[in-house]
Amino acid sequence: MSNISYRLPQEIRLTGEFPGPRSAELAERRAKVVPGGVASSVPVYAADADGGVIVDVDGNSFADLGSGIAVTSVGASAPKVVEAVQDAASHFTHTCFMVTPYEGYVAVAEKLAEVTPGDFEKRSVLFNSGAEAVENAVKVARAATGRNAVVVFDHAYHGRTNLTMALTAKAAPYKRGFGPFASEVYRVPMSYPYREPAEIDGKEAAERAILQIEKQIGGQDVAAILIEPIQGEGGFIVPAEGFLPRLAEWARENGVVFIADEVQAGFCRTGKWFAVDHEGVEPDLVTLAKGIAGGMPLSAVTGRADLLDAVGPGGLGGTYGGNPVACAAALASIETMEEWNLNERATAIEKAIRGAIEPLVTESDIVGEVRGRGAMMAIEFVADSDSKTPHPSAAKDVAAYCLERGVAILTCGTYGNIVRLLPPLTISDELLDEALNILVEGIRSV
Ligand SMILES: *Cc1c(COP(=O)(O)O)cnc(C)c1O
Repeated sequence: MSNISYRLPQEIRLTGEFPGPRSAELAERRAKVVPGGVASSVPVYAADADGGVIVDVDGNSFADLGSGIAVTSVGASAPKVVEAVQDAASHFTHTCFMVTPYEGYVAVAEKLAEVTPGDFEKRSVLFNSGAEAVENAVKVARAATGRNAVVVFDHAYHGRTNLTMALTAKAAPYKRGFGPFASEVYRVPMSYPYREPAEIDGKEAAERAILQIEKQIGGQDVAAILIEPIQGEGGFIVPAEGFLPRLAEWARENGVVFIADEVQAGFCRTGKWFAVDHEGVEPDLVTLAKGIAGGMPLSAVTGRADLLDAVGPGGLGGTYGGNPVACAAALASIETMEEWNLNERATAIEKAIRGAIEPLVTESDIVGEVRGRGAMMAIEFVADSDSKTPHPSAAKDVAAYCLERGVAILTCGTYGNIVRLLPPLTISDELLDEALNILVEGIRSV
Protein backbone atom coordinates (compact mmCIF):
# COMPACT_ATOMS: atom_id res chain seq x y z
CA MET A 1 0.00 0.00 0.00
CA SER A 2 1.05 3.61 -0.39
CA ASN A 3 2.46 5.88 2.29
CA ILE A 4 -0.85 6.52 4.07
CA SER A 5 -0.20 7.38 7.71
CA TYR A 6 -2.49 6.96 10.71
CA ARG A 7 -2.85 8.64 14.08
CA LEU A 8 -5.27 6.12 15.62
CA PRO A 9 -4.90 2.33 15.71
CA GLN A 10 -6.76 0.94 12.69
CA GLU A 11 -8.74 -1.71 14.53
CA ILE A 12 -12.19 -2.83 15.57
CA ARG A 13 -12.36 -2.68 19.38
CA LEU A 14 -15.54 -3.05 21.40
CA THR A 15 -15.56 -2.36 25.12
CA GLY A 16 -18.79 -4.05 26.13
CA GLU A 17 -22.28 -2.59 26.11
CA PHE A 18 -23.61 -1.27 22.81
CA PRO A 19 -24.31 1.59 22.77
CA GLY A 20 -22.09 2.39 25.75
CA PRO A 21 -23.17 4.47 28.77
CA ARG A 22 -21.83 7.82 27.53
CA SER A 23 -23.54 7.41 24.16
CA ALA A 24 -26.76 6.44 25.92
CA GLU A 25 -26.52 9.55 28.08
CA LEU A 26 -25.99 11.76 25.02
CA ALA A 27 -28.96 10.13 23.28
CA GLU A 28 -31.12 11.10 26.24
CA ARG A 29 -29.92 14.72 26.17
CA ARG A 30 -30.39 14.83 22.41
CA ALA A 31 -33.99 13.59 22.57
CA LYS A 32 -34.89 16.66 24.63
CA VAL A 33 -33.41 19.23 22.24
CA VAL A 34 -33.00 17.75 18.74
CA PRO A 35 -36.12 16.97 16.68
CA GLY A 36 -36.82 13.37 15.70
CA GLY A 37 -36.82 14.40 12.04
CA VAL A 38 -33.04 14.41 12.24
CA ALA A 39 -32.23 10.71 12.31
CA SER A 40 -28.82 9.08 12.86
CA SER A 41 -28.12 5.63 11.47
CA VAL A 42 -25.40 4.84 14.03
CA PRO A 43 -26.47 5.10 17.72
CA VAL A 44 -23.03 5.95 19.13
CA TYR A 45 -21.50 9.40 19.51
CA ALA A 46 -18.16 10.15 17.88
CA ALA A 47 -15.13 11.26 19.86
CA ASP A 48 -12.35 10.75 17.32
CA ALA A 49 -11.87 9.48 13.78
CA ASP A 50 -8.92 8.78 11.51
CA GLY A 51 -8.27 6.69 8.40
CA GLY A 52 -10.78 3.86 8.44
CA VAL A 53 -11.93 4.11 12.07
CA ILE A 54 -14.39 6.07 14.18
CA VAL A 55 -13.88 5.96 17.95
CA ASP A 56 -16.94 6.67 20.09
CA VAL A 57 -17.27 8.43 23.45
CA ASP A 58 -17.12 5.06 25.26
CA GLY A 59 -13.85 4.06 23.63
CA ASN A 60 -15.31 1.68 21.03
CA SER A 61 -13.46 1.69 17.72
CA PHE A 62 -15.56 1.02 14.62
CA ALA A 63 -14.48 0.23 11.07
CA ASP A 64 -16.04 3.02 9.01
CA LEU A 65 -17.71 1.85 5.80
CA GLY A 66 -19.71 5.07 5.35
CA SER A 67 -17.27 8.02 5.40
CA GLY A 68 -20.07 10.24 6.70
CA ILE A 69 -21.85 9.57 3.37
CA ALA A 70 -18.86 9.62 1.04
CA VAL A 71 -17.35 12.76 2.55
CA THR A 72 -14.19 11.73 4.39
CA SER A 73 -12.54 10.01 1.43
CA VAL A 74 -9.11 11.08 2.69
CA GLY A 75 -10.05 10.12 6.26
CA ALA A 76 -11.69 12.31 8.89
CA SER A 77 -8.45 13.88 10.13
CA ALA A 78 -5.96 13.61 7.27
CA PRO A 79 -2.73 15.31 8.40
CA LYS A 80 -2.53 17.82 5.53
CA VAL A 81 -6.19 18.78 5.92
CA VAL A 82 -5.87 19.29 9.67
CA GLU A 83 -2.75 21.41 9.21
CA ALA A 84 -4.33 23.50 6.44
CA VAL A 85 -7.48 24.11 8.47
CA GLN A 86 -5.52 25.14 11.56
CA ASP A 87 -3.30 27.46 9.55
CA ALA A 88 -6.16 29.09 7.64
CA ALA A 89 -8.27 29.56 10.78
CA SER A 90 -5.37 31.21 12.58
CA HIS A 91 -5.36 33.95 9.92
CA PHE A 92 -9.02 34.59 9.11
CA THR A 93 -12.16 32.46 9.32
CA HIS A 94 -14.22 34.65 7.00
CA THR A 95 -14.23 37.83 5.03
CA CYS A 96 -16.91 36.88 2.46
CA PHE A 97 -15.55 36.40 -1.05
CA MET A 98 -18.18 38.84 -2.33
CA VAL A 99 -16.76 41.52 -0.01
CA THR A 100 -13.02 40.97 0.37
CA PRO A 101 -11.76 38.14 -1.85
CA TYR A 102 -8.83 35.85 -1.00
CA GLU A 103 -6.41 33.52 -2.79
CA GLY A 104 -7.81 30.18 -1.51
CA TYR A 105 -11.03 30.55 -3.50
CA VAL A 106 -9.12 31.30 -6.71
CA ALA A 107 -6.71 28.41 -6.08
CA VAL A 108 -9.61 25.98 -5.58
CA ALA A 109 -11.20 27.17 -8.85
CA GLU A 110 -7.85 26.66 -10.63
CA LYS A 111 -7.52 23.15 -9.20
CA LEU A 112 -11.11 22.24 -10.13
CA ALA A 113 -10.50 23.38 -13.71
CA GLU A 114 -7.56 20.99 -13.79
CA VAL A 115 -9.14 17.84 -12.32
CA THR A 116 -12.66 18.01 -13.81
CA PRO A 117 -13.31 16.47 -17.25
CA GLY A 118 -12.82 18.53 -20.43
CA ASP A 119 -10.02 20.68 -21.81
CA PHE A 120 -12.23 23.72 -22.45
CA GLU A 121 -12.06 26.97 -20.53
CA LYS A 122 -13.82 26.64 -17.21
CA ARG A 123 -15.17 28.68 -14.35
CA SER A 124 -16.05 27.59 -10.80
CA VAL A 125 -18.34 29.12 -8.22
CA LEU A 126 -18.21 27.86 -4.63
CA PHE A 127 -21.00 27.17 -2.14
CA ASN A 128 -21.52 25.23 1.10
CA SER A 129 -23.67 22.18 0.38
CA GLY A 130 -24.44 19.80 -2.43
CA ALA A 131 -28.02 21.03 -2.68
CA GLU A 132 -26.80 24.59 -3.05
CA ALA A 133 -24.48 23.56 -5.87
CA VAL A 134 -27.32 21.76 -7.68
CA GLU A 135 -29.65 24.76 -7.28
CA ASN A 136 -27.01 27.03 -8.74
CA ALA A 137 -26.20 24.72 -11.64
CA VAL A 138 -29.89 24.89 -12.59
CA LYS A 139 -29.84 28.69 -12.22
CA VAL A 140 -26.83 28.89 -14.53
CA ALA A 141 -28.39 26.54 -17.10
CA ARG A 142 -31.62 28.56 -17.16
CA ALA A 143 -29.84 31.90 -17.38
CA ALA A 144 -27.55 30.67 -20.16
CA THR A 145 -30.27 29.03 -22.28
CA GLY A 146 -33.27 31.25 -21.54
CA ARG A 147 -35.26 28.01 -21.07
CA ASN A 148 -37.00 26.60 -18.00
CA ALA A 149 -37.43 22.84 -18.12
CA VAL A 150 -35.12 20.57 -16.14
CA VAL A 151 -35.00 16.85 -16.86
CA VAL A 152 -34.23 14.46 -14.00
CA PHE A 153 -34.40 10.68 -13.58
CA ASP A 154 -36.17 7.98 -11.63
CA HIS A 155 -34.36 7.19 -8.33
CA ALA A 156 -32.56 10.55 -8.40
CA TYR A 157 -31.41 12.32 -5.26
CA HIS A 158 -30.29 15.94 -5.45
CA GLY A 159 -30.92 17.40 -1.98
CA ARG A 160 -33.44 18.73 0.53
CA THR A 161 -34.06 22.37 -0.44
CA ASN A 162 -37.26 23.24 -2.29
CA LEU A 163 -35.89 22.99 -5.82
CA THR A 164 -33.72 19.96 -5.04
CA MET A 165 -36.65 18.18 -3.36
CA ALA A 166 -38.51 18.66 -6.63
CA LEU A 167 -35.53 17.18 -8.47
CA THR A 168 -35.35 14.23 -6.05
CA ALA A 169 -37.49 11.18 -6.84
CA LYS A 170 -38.26 9.55 -3.49
CA ALA A 171 -41.25 10.89 -1.50
CA ALA A 172 -40.61 9.51 1.99
CA PRO A 173 -38.65 10.69 3.87
CA TYR A 174 -37.35 13.45 1.60
CA LYS A 175 -40.48 15.15 0.21
CA ARG A 176 -43.62 13.97 1.97
CA GLY A 177 -45.43 16.86 3.62
CA PHE A 178 -42.95 19.46 2.37
CA GLY A 179 -44.62 20.65 -0.84
CA PRO A 180 -45.61 22.47 -2.97
CA PHE A 181 -42.51 21.93 -5.03
CA ALA A 182 -40.75 23.93 -7.72
CA SER A 183 -42.22 23.58 -11.20
CA GLU A 184 -40.75 22.78 -14.61
CA VAL A 185 -39.14 19.55 -13.41
CA TYR A 186 -39.67 16.48 -15.64
CA ARG A 187 -38.78 12.92 -14.64
CA VAL A 188 -37.77 10.26 -17.16
CA PRO A 189 -36.66 6.61 -16.87
CA MET A 190 -33.17 5.78 -15.64
CA SER A 191 -31.03 2.94 -16.89
CA TYR A 192 -31.15 0.42 -14.02
CA PRO A 193 -29.70 -2.76 -15.53
CA TYR A 194 -30.68 -5.08 -12.66
CA ARG A 195 -34.34 -4.05 -12.82
CA GLU A 196 -35.01 -3.60 -16.54
CA PRO A 197 -38.15 -5.50 -17.55
CA ALA A 198 -36.40 -6.70 -20.70
CA GLU A 199 -32.90 -6.78 -22.15
CA ILE A 200 -31.98 -3.21 -23.10
CA ASP A 201 -28.54 -1.71 -23.65
CA GLY A 202 -27.38 1.72 -22.52
CA LYS A 203 -27.99 3.45 -25.82
CA GLU A 204 -31.52 2.05 -26.06
CA ALA A 205 -32.21 3.10 -22.48
CA ALA A 206 -31.05 6.61 -23.42
CA GLU A 207 -33.36 6.63 -26.47
CA ARG A 208 -36.23 5.59 -24.21
CA ALA A 209 -35.56 8.64 -21.99
CA ILE A 210 -35.00 10.94 -24.98
CA LEU A 211 -38.32 9.92 -26.55
CA GLN A 212 -40.09 10.97 -23.35
CA ILE A 213 -38.19 14.25 -23.19
CA GLU A 214 -39.10 15.04 -26.80
CA LYS A 215 -42.75 14.12 -26.32
CA GLN A 216 -43.28 15.71 -22.90
CA ILE A 217 -41.25 18.91 -23.38
CA GLY A 218 -39.43 19.14 -26.71
CA GLY A 219 -35.66 19.55 -26.95
CA GLN A 220 -35.91 23.27 -27.75
CA ASP A 221 -37.53 24.00 -24.37
CA VAL A 222 -35.18 22.02 -22.14
CA ALA A 223 -32.65 24.03 -20.13
CA ALA A 224 -30.80 21.10 -18.59
CA ILE A 225 -30.51 17.37 -18.14
CA LEU A 226 -29.38 16.73 -14.58
CA ILE A 227 -28.09 13.27 -13.72
CA GLU A 228 -25.99 11.48 -11.13
CA PRO A 229 -23.56 9.41 -13.24
CA ILE A 230 -23.84 6.76 -10.53
CA GLN A 231 -26.97 7.33 -8.48
CA GLY A 232 -26.26 7.59 -4.77
CA GLU A 233 -29.24 7.57 -2.40
CA GLY A 234 -31.33 5.86 -5.09
CA GLY A 235 -29.26 2.70 -4.75
CA PHE A 236 -25.80 3.06 -6.30
CA ILE A 237 -27.31 2.47 -9.69
CA VAL A 238 -24.68 2.31 -12.43
CA PRO A 239 -26.35 2.99 -15.78
CA ALA A 240 -25.61 0.61 -18.64
CA GLU A 241 -22.60 1.51 -20.76
CA GLY A 242 -23.52 4.00 -23.45
CA PHE A 243 -26.40 5.60 -21.53
CA LEU A 244 -24.54 8.71 -20.34
CA PRO A 245 -22.64 9.34 -23.61
CA ARG A 246 -25.86 9.19 -25.66
CA LEU A 247 -27.68 11.58 -23.31
CA ALA A 248 -24.74 13.99 -23.41
CA GLU A 249 -24.70 13.80 -27.20
CA TRP A 250 -28.43 14.49 -27.45
CA ALA A 251 -28.04 17.43 -25.06
CA ARG A 252 -25.30 18.89 -27.25
CA GLU A 253 -27.40 18.49 -30.40
CA ASN A 254 -30.30 20.31 -28.76
CA GLY A 255 -28.50 23.15 -26.97
CA VAL A 256 -29.37 21.56 -23.62
CA VAL A 257 -26.95 21.93 -20.70
CA PHE A 258 -25.73 18.51 -19.52
CA ILE A 259 -25.16 18.63 -15.75
CA ALA A 260 -23.47 15.73 -13.96
CA ASP A 261 -24.25 15.70 -10.25
CA GLU A 262 -20.95 14.28 -8.98
CA VAL A 263 -21.67 15.29 -5.38
CA GLN A 264 -21.45 11.68 -4.12
CA ALA A 265 -19.47 9.92 -6.87
CA GLY A 266 -16.75 12.53 -7.34
CA PHE A 267 -13.19 12.95 -6.09
CA CYS A 268 -11.58 9.51 -6.51
CA ARG A 269 -14.56 7.70 -4.97
CA THR A 270 -15.08 5.48 -8.04
CA GLY A 271 -11.40 4.99 -8.93
CA LYS A 272 -11.26 8.00 -11.24
CA TRP A 273 -11.47 11.69 -10.42
CA PHE A 274 -15.12 11.72 -11.50
CA ALA A 275 -17.62 9.00 -12.32
CA VAL A 276 -18.22 10.39 -15.84
CA ASP A 277 -14.51 9.78 -16.57
CA HIS A 278 -15.23 6.04 -16.83
CA GLU A 279 -17.01 6.69 -20.13
CA GLY A 280 -15.15 9.80 -21.25
CA VAL A 281 -18.21 12.03 -20.89
CA GLU A 282 -17.49 15.76 -20.61
CA PRO A 283 -20.44 17.45 -18.89
CA ASP A 284 -21.15 21.15 -19.50
CA LEU A 285 -21.43 21.60 -15.72
CA VAL A 286 -20.53 19.39 -12.77
CA THR A 287 -21.80 19.79 -9.22
CA LEU A 288 -19.28 18.89 -6.55
CA ALA A 289 -19.41 18.57 -2.77
CA LYS A 290 -19.08 15.67 -0.28
CA GLY A 291 -15.53 14.38 -0.91
CA ILE A 292 -14.17 17.77 -1.96
CA ALA A 293 -12.74 19.11 1.30
CA GLY A 294 -12.02 16.28 3.73
CA GLY A 295 -15.17 16.96 5.74
CA MET A 296 -15.25 20.75 5.70
CA PRO A 297 -18.44 22.15 4.16
CA LEU A 298 -17.73 23.20 0.60
CA SER A 299 -19.40 22.68 -2.75
CA ALA A 300 -18.89 23.90 -6.29
CA VAL A 301 -20.35 24.28 -9.73
CA THR A 302 -17.59 23.87 -12.31
CA GLY A 303 -18.07 24.02 -16.04
CA ARG A 304 -17.98 25.76 -19.36
CA ALA A 305 -16.92 29.38 -19.06
CA ASP A 306 -19.54 30.60 -21.56
CA LEU A 307 -22.33 29.13 -19.43
CA LEU A 308 -21.14 30.40 -16.06
CA ASP A 309 -20.27 33.79 -17.55
CA ALA A 310 -23.85 34.13 -18.83
CA VAL A 311 -25.00 35.14 -15.34
CA GLY A 312 -24.80 38.88 -14.69
CA PRO A 313 -22.63 40.46 -11.97
CA GLY A 314 -23.92 39.65 -8.47
CA GLY A 315 -26.17 36.85 -9.76
CA LEU A 316 -24.18 34.11 -8.06
CA GLY A 317 -22.83 33.92 -4.53
CA GLY A 318 -23.77 33.56 -0.88
CA THR A 319 -22.40 34.77 2.45
CA TYR A 320 -20.35 31.68 3.27
CA GLY A 321 -19.77 30.20 -0.17
CA GLY A 322 -16.10 29.27 -0.58
CA ASN A 323 -15.25 29.87 3.07
CA PRO A 324 -11.46 30.35 3.37
CA VAL A 325 -10.97 27.52 5.89
CA ALA A 326 -13.01 25.15 3.70
CA CYS A 327 -10.98 26.23 0.64
CA ALA A 328 -7.72 25.45 2.46
CA ALA A 329 -9.16 22.04 3.38
CA ALA A 330 -10.15 21.38 -0.26
CA LEU A 331 -6.68 22.16 -1.58
CA ALA A 332 -5.13 19.91 1.08
CA SER A 333 -7.64 17.11 0.38
CA ILE A 334 -7.01 17.16 -3.35
CA GLU A 335 -3.27 17.18 -2.72
CA THR A 336 -3.71 14.20 -0.37
CA MET A 337 -5.69 12.34 -3.06
CA GLU A 338 -2.82 12.87 -5.49
CA GLU A 339 -0.03 12.02 -3.03
CA TRP A 340 -1.68 8.92 -1.67
CA ASN A 341 -2.90 7.73 -5.11
CA LEU A 342 -6.44 7.44 -3.85
CA ASN A 343 -7.82 6.55 -7.28
CA GLU A 344 -5.68 3.43 -7.13
CA ARG A 345 -6.83 2.78 -3.58
CA ALA A 346 -10.49 3.02 -4.64
CA THR A 347 -9.84 0.47 -7.39
CA ALA A 348 -8.14 -1.88 -4.90
CA ILE A 349 -11.08 -1.47 -2.51
CA GLU A 350 -13.51 -2.46 -5.29
CA LYS A 351 -11.45 -5.58 -5.92
CA ALA A 352 -11.48 -6.53 -2.23
CA ILE A 353 -15.23 -5.94 -1.92
CA ARG A 354 -16.06 -7.91 -5.09
CA GLY A 355 -13.76 -10.72 -3.97
CA ALA A 356 -15.52 -11.00 -0.62
CA ILE A 357 -19.15 -10.41 -1.59
CA GLU A 358 -19.65 -11.57 -5.19
CA PRO A 359 -19.51 -15.30 -4.29
CA LEU A 360 -22.65 -14.67 -2.20
CA VAL A 361 -24.68 -13.82 -5.32
CA THR A 362 -24.69 -17.52 -6.24
CA GLU A 363 -24.50 -18.81 -2.67
CA SER A 364 -27.41 -16.80 -1.26
CA ASP A 365 -30.80 -16.27 -2.88
CA ILE A 366 -31.28 -12.89 -1.17
CA VAL A 367 -28.15 -11.27 -2.61
CA GLY A 368 -29.50 -10.01 -5.92
CA GLU A 369 -26.58 -8.01 -7.18
CA VAL A 370 -23.23 -6.56 -6.17
CA ARG A 371 -22.51 -3.43 -8.18
CA GLY A 372 -20.74 -0.10 -8.20
CA ARG A 373 -17.35 1.29 -8.99
CA GLY A 374 -14.31 1.78 -6.80
CA ALA A 375 -15.18 2.44 -3.18
CA MET A 376 -18.84 3.12 -4.05
CA MET A 377 -20.29 -0.39 -3.94
CA ALA A 378 -23.78 -1.69 -3.27
CA ILE A 379 -25.35 -4.99 -2.34
CA GLU A 380 -28.98 -5.23 -3.44
CA PHE A 381 -31.12 -7.57 -1.30
CA VAL A 382 -34.15 -9.35 -2.76
CA ALA A 383 -36.73 -11.83 -1.47
CA ASP A 384 -35.46 -14.30 -4.09
CA SER A 385 -33.45 -14.01 -7.25
CA ASP A 386 -36.39 -14.85 -9.55
CA SER A 387 -38.94 -12.30 -8.36
CA LYS A 388 -36.28 -9.71 -7.43
CA THR A 389 -38.81 -8.35 -4.93
CA PRO A 390 -36.95 -5.76 -2.83
CA HIS A 391 -36.04 -7.04 0.64
CA PRO A 392 -35.43 -3.95 2.80
CA SER A 393 -35.45 -5.80 6.14
CA ALA A 394 -32.50 -7.92 5.00
CA ALA A 395 -30.46 -4.76 4.33
CA LYS A 396 -31.44 -3.34 7.71
CA ASP A 397 -30.67 -6.60 9.55
CA VAL A 398 -27.26 -6.90 7.88
CA ALA A 399 -26.41 -3.30 8.80
CA ALA A 400 -27.51 -3.90 12.42
CA TYR A 401 -25.50 -7.13 12.63
CA CYS A 402 -22.38 -5.33 11.41
CA LEU A 403 -22.84 -2.39 13.71
CA GLU A 404 -23.09 -4.58 16.81
CA ARG A 405 -19.79 -6.15 15.79
CA GLY A 406 -17.99 -2.89 15.19
CA VAL A 407 -18.61 -2.15 11.51
CA ALA A 408 -20.51 1.06 10.71
CA ILE A 409 -22.44 0.52 7.50
CA LEU A 410 -25.22 2.43 5.67
CA THR A 411 -28.28 1.40 3.70
CA CYS A 412 -29.97 3.24 0.81
CA GLY A 413 -32.12 2.75 -2.26
CA THR A 414 -35.56 3.67 -3.53
CA TYR A 415 -36.78 0.43 -1.91
CA GLY A 416 -34.42 0.67 1.11
CA ASN A 417 -32.99 -2.73 0.20
CA ILE A 418 -29.40 -1.74 -0.50
CA VAL A 419 -26.37 -1.99 1.77
CA ARG A 420 -23.88 0.55 0.51
CA LEU A 421 -20.16 0.45 1.07
CA LEU A 422 -18.38 3.79 1.09
CA PRO A 423 -15.21 3.32 3.13
CA PRO A 424 -12.67 6.10 3.42
CA LEU A 425 -10.19 5.52 0.59
CA THR A 426 -7.49 5.48 3.26
CA ILE A 427 -8.87 2.38 5.04
CA SER A 428 -6.12 -0.21 5.48
CA ASP A 429 -6.34 -3.55 3.66
CA GLU A 430 -6.34 -5.42 7.00
CA LEU A 431 -9.21 -3.42 8.48
CA LEU A 432 -11.23 -3.61 5.26
CA ASP A 433 -10.80 -7.40 5.15
CA GLU A 434 -11.85 -7.72 8.79
CA ALA A 435 -14.94 -5.56 8.17
CA LEU A 436 -15.83 -7.52 5.03
CA ASN A 437 -15.55 -10.82 6.92
CA ILE A 438 -18.07 -9.51 9.44
CA LEU A 439 -20.31 -8.33 6.59
CA VAL A 440 -20.19 -11.74 4.93
CA GLU A 441 -21.09 -13.45 8.23
CA GLY A 442 -23.91 -10.93 8.62
CA ILE A 443 -25.33 -11.73 5.18
CA ARG A 444 -25.08 -15.47 5.83
CA SER A 445 -26.88 -15.07 9.16
CA VAL A 446 -29.86 -13.17 7.71
C1 LIG B 1 -25.75 14.31 -0.92
C2 LIG B 1 -26.12 14.67 -2.30
C3 LIG B 1 -26.66 15.93 -2.61
C4 LIG B 1 -26.97 16.96 -1.56
O1 LIG B 1 -25.83 17.37 -0.86
P1 LIG B 1 -26.00 18.13 0.54
O2 LIG B 1 -24.62 18.56 0.87
O3 LIG B 1 -26.55 17.13 1.51
O4 LIG B 1 -26.92 19.26 0.30
C5 LIG B 1 -26.89 16.23 -3.93
N1 LIG B 1 -26.63 15.33 -4.91
C6 LIG B 1 -26.14 14.11 -4.64
C7 LIG B 1 -25.86 13.17 -5.76
C8 LIG B 1 -25.88 13.73 -3.32
O5 LIG B 1 -25.42 12.50 -3.06
